[in-house]
Amino acid sequence: MRIVVLAGGIGGARFLRGLLRAAPDADIAVIGNTGDDITLFGLRVCPDLDTVMYTLGGGINEEQGWGRANETFSVREELAAYDVRPQWFTLGDRDFATHIVRTQMLDAGYPLSAVTEALCARWLDRPDDGRGGPGGAGVRLLPMTDDRVETHVIVDDDAGRRAIHFQEWWVRLHAQVPAVEIVAVGAEDAKPAPGVLDAIESADVVLFPPSNPVVSIGTILQVPGIRPAIEGKTVVGVSPIIGGAPVRGMADACLAAIGVRTTAGAVAEHYGRRLLDGWLVDEIDAGTTAEGIEVRIRPLYMRDVDSAAAIARAALELATELT
Ligand code: GDP
Ligand code: CA
Repeated sequence: MRIVVLAGGIGGARFLRGLLRAAPDADIAVIGNTGDDITLFGLRVCPDLDTVMYTLGGGINEEQGWGRANETFSVREELAAYDVRPQWFTLGDRDFATHIVRTQMLDAGYPLSAVTEALCARWLDRPDDGRGGPGGAGVRLLPMTDDRVETHVIVDDDAGRRAIHFQEWWVRLHAQVPAVEIVAVGAEDAKPAPGVLDAIESADVVLFPPSNPVVSIGTILQVPGIRPAIEGKTVVGVSPIIGGAPVRGMADACLAAIGVRTTAGAVAEHYGRRLLDGWLVDEIDAGTTAEGIEVRIRPLYMRDVDSAAAIARAALELATELT
């Protein structure tokens, strides 16, 4: 079975770990969000790609859901001692190595897709290690585009109306300042990365994990060509909203910026019936309906790999039924 998954960071990565367990023999292509990418200290950082890579490769900090396990912060402390800014974005020593390799390759002229493939050779090209990391064999991680797309947030506060990088809004301001608008700068001129449209074309099913519908999946869908390619496919999504709230993070602030209510049903209708065929909602949201979309009720908390695998299995069953 060929499966395409559009993924942001933590919600996408945890779902994917379950999907690997639920469908170990599937051919899985992950189209990763790069709108959150940022250059810090001269290094290109791709938080969502790295969260997927580290999670599937068994290198993630489990409690946090991002960053490396067994991390140390010497470089960060040294940078702070020089009073180098910004200091609000945490990068650990192990993580720095990833960004150094990526930046060197980008500077040498390799596109992000080739760089990502090279980085993933370390993390994904191995079978199940039996130690919690399911191993990423069978998964290809493709950035949505090789072109520069950066999510910016228009905010309006005491300092006036201005555009700031998504990470500054999310990490430094904790999305506390309301977003007037969220813009994926560069998206309209971006081309899907090599392999992206082919993967969608040959997919039996496309899955939307419980990733942020605005700044993760929404950004991927803004790359010209991706949305129309997906519209022709059987698509099943998992609600990132449970009982009117994002399970973790501040996705409600993003939904507010685009005028969508923070409910499982409103998110499904925001994607719409042209895109979505099936939608999984949590038991607490039983009674959710979405025009033209088949809604199923399942426990949607990803407590561990087993619960994520059960969700992935339910998504695949619904997709098979709707195909
Ligand atoms: P980010 O890039 O790290 O913010 O990660 P994603 O975009 O992939 O996913 C973030 C979203 O995952 C959050 O907005 C939550 O709504 C959702 N989420 C996190 N944990 C869970 C969970 O256990 N179950 C469900 N259904 N959604 C979750
Ligand atoms: Ca993200």
